[in-house]
Amino acid sequence: MQKTYDAQNIFARILRGEIPNKTVLDTPHTLVFDNINPAAPVHVLAIPKGAYVDFSDFATNASEAEITDFHRACAKVCEMLGLEAGGYRCITNAGAHGMQEVPHYHLHIIGGRVLGRLVDPA
Ligand code: AMP
Repeated sequence: MQKTYDAQNIFARILRGEIPNKTVLDTPHTLVFDNINPAAPVHVLAIPKGAYVDFSDFATNASEAEITDFHRACAKVCEMLGLEAGGYRCITNAGAHGMQEVPHYHLHIIGGRVLGRLVDPA
């Protein structure tokens, strides 16, 4: 499914330097920064620098270099932030049912405490 990318979304603006962020890791294809509203002691967001709406857009249309860089950056951040020992959770929300707020693909990397169940019963 072809998805239209909104170049005014807040993560696009962060990538253009129009909005500040607390950068954790910056690589050729990926930016990782602190979530402004953390859900746990560690809560960072990893975003590709390319214009991808969500997970499936990224997985389908990004280059192998972008996909590799993104996942290596996420793994590096887990190590850098001390998450490997206790564990962590990576989540990506997509579309209306996923309750995605920002239409630029991002992976939430969350940890620093026991996180509870993944999904609340409806
Ligand atoms: P999602 O619902 O998966 O689209 O999550 C969007 C996330 O972006 C939320 O957890 C917000 O707290 C986070 N967020 C929104 N604006 C900013 C910002 N300027 N800097 C860092 N995180 C942000």
